[in-house]
Amino acid sequence: MFMMFRVSDIKQFVFCPRYVYFTYVQPVPKAPTPTMEHARTLHDEHNAREKRRGFAAYGLVEGSRHYHVPVYAEKLGLRGKIDLVIDAEAPNANGQRYYPVECKDTASGVRNNFKYQLAAYAMALEEVTGTPVHKAFLYIIPEKRAHNVPITEGLRTHIRRMLTMMRTMVEREIFPEPRSRARCFSCEMRRYCNDLDDASGAFEESPAQAKRLVDCF
Ligand code: SF4
Repeated sequence: MFMMFRVSDIKQFVFCPRYVYFTYVQPVPKAPTPTMEHARTLHDEHNAREKRRGFAAYGLVEGSRHYHVPVYAEKLGLRGKIDLVIDAEAPNANGQRYYPVECKDTASGVRNNFKYQLAAYAMALEEVTGTPVHKAFLYIIPEKRAHNVPITEGLRTHIRRMLTMMRTMVEREIFPEPRSRARCFSCEMRRYCNDLDDASGAFEESPAQAKRLVDCF
């Protein structure tokens, strides 16, 4: 059996692999930032409003909503809690009955890291329900719009590759390179990354680092 990661670890890994290192290899205390707490409140408010809407935004005629659905996919090695799962009550022509929805409060639209997180939830939902998930949704709160995200083979491969990299890093206790040092400024882990030095200009992303990023993904 694979070691279990949380779906949110994928998002953190995309932000910076060290975040995952500081969760599983050398755990350090993490406190929710004010931004995270604000996002949680917005989610709750959004869910209260969402309950009153129909299913047309998701291209469905009817269904039922299930909030904060826990998933535990042992074969994949992923666990988490899905913001919203719509149960269409019956499978469509492609065999899909369940539709995962992730809600994001963002002004930057559908970003790749959101898609990775959603794809990971979709794959975990497939494993626990034994039914295919070809389509999922990102609900962008400021836009009040549900974006259809096809769960492509490319996205699935990407998730599996990331999980392999995360497992390798944890099992071999590899201290990874930062994804981009420009991100360190807003990172709550900054006090633990002792090799970073503001005065040395270490926060600037070098062409070599940028290339490693591209090679990695
Ligand atoms: S401070 Fe920088 S290197 Fe350290 S975890 Fe955060 S983003 Fe990564």
